[in-house]
Amino acid sequence: MRTTITRLLTLSGLLLILCAPVGANEGSLAFVGARIIDGTANAPIEDGVLVITDGRIRSVGPRDAVTIPEDAQQIDVSGKTIMPGLINAHGHVGGTLGLGGGQYNTGNLLRQLGLYARYGITTVNSLGGDEEQGFALRNSQFDSDLDRARIFVAGSVVVGDSEQAIRDEVNRNADMGANFIKVRVDDNLGATQKMPQNLFDALVDQAHIRRLPVAVHLFYLEDAKYILNAGADLIAHSIRDLPVDSEFISLIKDKGICYIPTLTREVSTFVYEGEPEFFSDPYFLKEADPAILEELKTPERQSRMRNSRSAQGYKLALQVAMANIGALNDVGVKIAMGTDTGPPARFQGYFEHMEMQMMVEAGMSPLDAIRASTGIAADCINVGDVGTLEPGKWGDLIVLAANPAEDIENTKSIESVWIAGNRVPE
Ligand SMILES: [Zn+2]
Repeated sequence: MRTTITRLLTLSGLLLILCAPVGANEGSLAFVGARIIDGTANAPIEDGVLVITDGRIRSVGPRDAVTIPEDAQQIDVSGKTIMPGLINAHGHVGGTLGLGGGQYNTGNLLRQLGLYARYGITTVNSLGGDEEQGFALRNSQFDSDLDRARIFVAGSVVVGDSEQAIRDEVNRNADMGANFIKVRVDDNLGATQKMPQNLFDALVDQAHIRRLPVAVHLFYLEDAKYILNAGADLIAHSIRDLPVDSEFISLIKDKGICYIPTLTREVSTFVYEGEPEFFSDPYFLKEADPAILEELKTPERQSRMRNSRSAQGYKLALQVAMANIGALNDVGVKIAMGTDTGPPARFQGYFEHMEMQMMVEAGMSPLDAIRASTGIAADCINVGDVGTLEPGKWGDLIVLAANPAEDIENTKSIESVWIAGNRVPE
C-alpha cells in the first residue's frame, strides 16, 4: 500500500515538473532600450531598462543607471514603449457567454480573464455578481506563474428592503472575503425605485464595521453629494444628469474619493442602433465572435434600440458625462479608468482602449488617461503592488510598438503582454 502511494506521489511529482508552464518566470528578465512610462507622475524614461526577478520588478531606470544581472534573459525592446498593464477599476467578470448569461463557472471566468489579458488589461476590479469561483481565482493569483488578468471581487450587489437585510448581505460578502461592497443608488431613468437613504446609511455603516470600502453605482448629482457625505469610498459611474458644481468638487476633493467615468457603458446602451464604427476595427475583430456581430446587426435589434427611451436617454447622458470628466480632470480629481465591461455587448478588453480614447476626447491628456488606467486606478481600488513600474511591484506590463503619450490610440499597438513576468499567450 505504502509503496503504491509513494509511486503515485513520485509519478505526480514528475507530472508536475513535466506540466510546468513553459517560460514560467524563474530568474531574471531584462527589457532593454524601450521608452518607459511608469504609471506615476514621473516623465517617461527614454532608452530605459527594466529588470524583473521572480515575477516582480527588481530595477527600472535609464540604461546607465540599471545593472542587468548576469544570468538575466535580455529582451531587446529598443524603439518600443513599455507601460504598466492596464487596470479596469470597474468591470464584471461573470456569467456572460456570447449575448447570454448564466455561465458563471471557473472555465468561463478564466476565458474572460485571458481575453482581458490579451488586450493588455492585467487587473480587473469586478464590481458585483461575483460568486465563490471568482473569489477562489482572486485568492490564487498572488503567484509568479500567473499569466491571466488579476481579478478583485465585490460579491453580490447589495440589495434589501430593511436595514437588517442590508447588514446581513454586507456580512455575507465580507465573510466570503470581498474587496469592495457594491451598491446601486439609481432609479434607472425613473423606471425603478431608488434605494432609500436610511438603507444606504446602514450599508455604509456595516461595510465600514467590516473594514470594507463602498463602491456606488449612481447617476444623479444630488445622489453623488449625498453618498459622499454619507461616507462612500468610490464613485463607480459618471454623474450624468447635470454638470458637476463647486459643492460636489470640494466634497470629492476633500474626501480624496476616486471617480470612474465608464463612458463606454453609455456607448453600449445605444451604439447598436446602427452598425458601430468599431465593427470594422481589426483590433476589435481579432477577438470578436462573428455570430455575436451578426446578431447585433439584425434590423429588429437595431430598431428596438433606436426606439428605446432608455437608449436615447443614455445617449444624452453620455454628453453630460464627457463634459463632467473634463471639468473634474481640470481641478485634479482622481479619475480611474473603468468600463463596466462584462455584461453582453460590452466587450471586455477592447472597450478599455476605447474608454481611454474617450477620456482623451473629454479633455484629459494621453498621459493623464494612462495614469488613470494604471497608477491611479491601482490606488483607487486599494491594490498596492500593481499599477506602476517600480521596484517591488509585480511585473505586469505591456510592450507597445508606438508611443501612447503621443496618441492614445497607440495603446492598441500591443506587441506583448506580461503578467508577473510571464508572457501572456496570444
Ligand atoms: Zn457595473
